[in-house]
Amino acid sequence: MTTVFGKIIRGELPCQKVFENDRILAFKDIAPKAPVHILIIPKKEIPNLQSVCLEDMPLVTEMLLVAQKLAKELGIDKGYRLLTNNGKEGGQVVDHLHFHLLGGKTLQTHVDLG
Ligand code: AMP
Repeated sequence: MTTVFGKIIRGELPCQKVFENDRILAFKDIAPKAPVHILIIPKKEIPNLQSVCLEDMPLVTEMLLVAQKLAKELGIDKGYRLLTNNGKEGGQVVDHLHFHLLGGKTLQTHVDLG
């Protein structure tokens, strides 16, 4: 793994971890866009959502369940946004699949398309 998230998974870079199991890691975004801003990533190296295949579906489903669990634990389960940026034109900077879990304030109705 060559991305910054790969380094975090291998323990070569620190992170503020909020969840970990054998397959998934979740930690606080280093530049939060909301009071709660968590990144949920698979330990498997998958570049982005467009690269996900059928065999990855249990993993992606588990990532969604981790988002649910963290939303509850962090007190934002009544309202949050879960998103992934796909590819450079989709605003993706780190080429390792990740979901942004955002909440803790009233989010704008429309996703920022800028
Ligand atoms: P994206 O634009 O969807 O690829 O989002 C990448 C996210 O990773 C951004 O929100 C960054 O703030 C975040 N990020 C980059 N490096 C780190 C890091 N070392 N620890 C935590 N979050 C990071």
